Amino acid sequence: MPKYDVYFEDVGHPGTQLIPNSILELFPVCCITAREILYADPTNVPKLERIALIFRDMDGVAHTTGSSTKKEIRFSLNYVKACRGNESEIKGVLVHEAVHCWQNNGLGTAPGGLVEGIADFVRLRAGLQPPHWNRNGPKTRWDEGYEKTAFFLDWVDIAVRRGIVERLNVVLQTKRYNSGIFIELTGHSIEHLWQNYVSV
Ligand SMILES: [Zn+2]
Repeated sequence: MPKYDVYFEDVGHPGTQLIPNSILELFPVCCITAREILYADPTNVPKLERIALIFRDMDGVAHTTGSSTKKEIRFSLNYVKACRGNESEIKGVLVHEAVHCWQNNGLGTAPGGLVEGIADFVRLRAGLQPPHWNRNGPKTRWDEGYEKTAFFLDWVDIAVRRGIVERLNVVLQTKRYNSGIFIELTGHSIEHLWQNYVSV
């Protein structure tokens, strides 16, 4: 287990007052949830030493940076304020960011839309999708990212290949990304999968 740190950078910010009181427990629980959904086999989990959660006066929602063993999740106090400290939303964002702490990216080659799609797939499977996510919204590209790609991966997992995201993540630990990975894992090209998904 890594060490978990929580930093409050701007205690006078109105968002700080809205952070759930249970954040010290919520944070590691969200990390464990993300890891358990992403990895069926615990021996594949990369070893992290430390994860810091930093509440900061910044734009956007949250993002994750760091080295291979030490990660930093930066969480926007303006966003905490905007969502009025909604606990389910904060947990959902934390699960998404925790995925970034442990996920593999094909040695830096995986498409950004896939990386974000996997993070939201885990959030979806954790039952923490926000109310505005719409499974029946427009389907433009498989690698559009976030919930669009998450719903596609969810469909592939249910309709084509159980455990697709877990397997994809394990392959991306040691291999560079190429679209042939989908043929290896499902027997179908990504284009074929996407066409089938769009026509459902
Ligand atoms: Zn992300």
